Amino acid sequence: MIEKYQIPQISTGDILRQAVKDGTEMGNAAKTYMDRGDLVPDDVIIGIVKDRIKADDCKNGYIFDGFPRTLPQAEALDKVLDELGTPLDAVVNIDVPEDVVVGRLSGRRTCKRCGTLYHMIANPTKEEGICDKCGGETFQRDDDNETTIRQRLEVYREQTFPLIDHYTTQDVVKTIPGEGTPKEIFELTCQALG
Ligand code: AMP
Repeated sequence: MIEKYQIPQISTGDILRQAVKDGTEMGNAAKTYMDRGDLVPDDVIIGIVKDRIKADDCKNGYIFDGFPRTLPQAEALDKVLDELGTPLDAVVNIDVPEDVVVGRLSGRRTCKRCGTLYHMIANPTKEEGICDKCGGETFQRDDDNETTIRQRLEVYREQTFPLIDHYTTQDVVKTIPGEGTPKEIFELTCQALG
């Protein structure tokens, strides 16, 4: 998506994982929540996003990934976008059964060096543990174990799912069936965005 639309992807999870790696005060505080599969407090997340969207590379737009995840986050975003005069173009709801999510996340591996994503079964590296693209080591995220994944899904059902109603009211939701291959889902998403 970032190549097609030439705009940055703002992943609050990536920003938090970088802060954990850098050992910042915010990162250390966030890690406790992340390891449990719980959400990091709204004020921390809203502060991160407000700063990030003011950066120069966001002038022509951006794609949020993993944000907003709660009603207070969505309401804070509505307010900021209202002030900036830049309403959301679309909210993409990728619809996947929970068991498929568990399978995808528990097999996920990421390259430490270049960030390329793999899956142990659906898209394995040629040599186990070594990135095909850059030769870097691959790793499994601490929160991609079944217990934490189930907790993250519970949190999703309780706190994030209601956002579909919130954004349906704003008439911006595009629901995509998410059981196909990454390429198929990419194409459906592009079609939905028009
Ligand atoms: P993700 O990379 O989007 O799967 O996020 C990993 C973890 O980071 C989540 O389980 C939360 O603990 C935290 N996190 C990421 N984004 C948010 C957010 N928008 N609100 C609260 N916590 C978040």
